[in-house]
Amino acid sequence: MSVSIQSYQQKFVDALGADLVLLGEEVERYCRDWHGDLTTGAIAVLRPRTTDDVSKAVRVCAELGVAIVPQGGNTGLVLGATPDAPESQVVLSLERMNAIRRIDADDFSAVVEAGAILSEFKDKVEEAGMFFPLALGAQGSCRIGGNVSTNAGGINVLRYGMTRELVLGLEVVLPDGSIFDGLSTLRKDNRGIDLKQLFIGAEGTLGIITAVAVKLMPMPDQVATALLGLNALDDVIALYRRARRDCCDLLSAFEFMPPLAFTLAREAMPDLAMPMSGDYPAYALLEISGSGLVDVSDLMERFLEGVMGDGLVVDGVVATSKAQSRNLWLFREGMNEGQAKRGPHLRTDVSVPLSRLADFVRDAQKAVYDALPECVCVSYGHVGDGNVHLNVLPPGDLPRSEIDARIYKAKKVINEVLDGYHGSISAEHGIGRLKKSDFDTRLSEVRRKLLTATKTAIDPDLRMNPGCQLSFARD
Ligand SMILES: Cc1cc2nc3c(=O)[nH]c(=O)nc-3n(C[C@H](O)[C@H](O)[C@H](O)COP(=O)(O)OP(=O)(O)OC[C@H]3O[C@@H](n4cnc5c(N)ncnc54)[C@H](O)[C@@H]3O)c2cc1C
Repeated sequence: MSVSIQSYQQKFVDALGADLVLLGEEVERYCRDWHGDLTTGAIAVLRPRTTDDVSKAVRVCAELGVAIVPQGGNTGLVLGATPDAPESQVVLSLERMNAIRRIDADDFSAVVEAGAILSEFKDKVEEAGMFFPLALGAQGSCRIGGNVSTNAGGINVLRYGMTRELVLGLEVVLPDGSIFDGLSTLRKDNRGIDLKQLFIGAEGTLGIITAVAVKLMPMPDQVATALLGLNALDDVIALYRRARRDCCDLLSAFEFMPPLAFTLAREAMPDLAMPMSGDYPAYALLEISGSGLVDVSDLMERFLEGVMGDGLVVDGVVATSKAQSRNLWLFREGMNEGQAKRGPHLRTDVSVPLSRLADFVRDAQKAVYDALPECVCVSYGHVGDGNVHLNVLPPGDLPRSEIDARIYKAKKVINEVLDGYHGSISAEHGIGRLKKSDFDTRLSEVRRKLLTATKTAIDPDLRMNPGCQLSFARD
């Protein structure tokens, strides 16, 4: 360790107190990505307890010329929350700022600190008889500030929108340590440019979000979930269109999965019982939910009668209790863990227009198998959002360098097909450090100019999460 890092560490302890500063081995777990594929390092991890602590920490970093990598639950899958220059960066973890400042049932709103774990916040909201609809596989670990900074999506986007649509206001510590107090819960506020939007999806490159005001919904106390077997992905898309019309705004989730999903889920959770006896080329997992006077079970029953009668759906199971529904969702969640267990692999998160989703999956998978016949493609995702996770698993017994070469090649092949569809290389996970060059090469001149102007106006010294999203050059 160089002398300068030690002297930085001493300065952080002197300025902020030992309680707020982690050093040495304790730093490591904050510097490892979620999959454990990559571990870096940092001068220190700063763990503020209050917004004023964050402001003070940011000012100390400015004085020392040290860059800041904000971190929530570190579940982001694009290396946005882990440093890439250990000798000149600190991690600023929001994990201690997890208070719920207010839940207001009359106002259908809440104010929560950035470090609150998503599932814990949702539980508290539910205790108050309300519902916060953001739902993703990582919700037991990810934190609200991270969700806002990545503009997270998840399974309920088709009904409630991305995180951006759920945010009413933000409190943000800016790179000079000043505090932007925009924690309003007003639903309508057209007083000029909506500044909070700058920080949503910025992945910590413009400031540190310390608290968030969000919209709440009435708790959907009736939920019906169905896992359906179909003959082709095209049929899944046709089923989605039908569900949008027949189930109207009560359709809250609609996912597609390949047959391999069940094998992968059971590799991670061997006790999972198979929900259906037959094997089908494609599966849809859909959920209808509602509250009040509607009859959700009846709606699901009538919908399934129609689509099975027409031969669009071949087989299916329906869950009408929360516990049964949870079991069906375990297959969707377990398949992620199953892929992780098979070793390093390519994870993509792309989007195309819904009408072209089935063609894209077919073309992209064919291109991967033509180039890399020894790999396995796993395509699944959020149908209603045109969002596909087309992952590619190289054989697990290859040397790491050969696995990495296949991951690189598969990504290139998929992105080429995607460009032909005018799709997005990041539907919901953001850019981070992992997708920086793919993002950079696809930027138009005007978009680059606007992004650079925004960044340099708010963070002129380029100290907020450098290396994430774009490398901004100072004039
Ligand atoms: C199993 C699994 C399933 C997932 N499913 C989904 C899914 O369905 N949809 C989806 O969108 N994502 C999904 N993700 C990705 C991830 O969970 C989301 O991106 C989530 O929003 C990240 O939150 P986090 O608290 O872990 O953020 P982190 O990983 O800690 O950080 C993410 C980015 O935000 C920045 N950041 C974090 N907190 C702050 C803050 N307070 N202020 C400023 N910047 C900050 C970081 O610097 C980093 O750039 C999944 C991940 C896993 C592991």
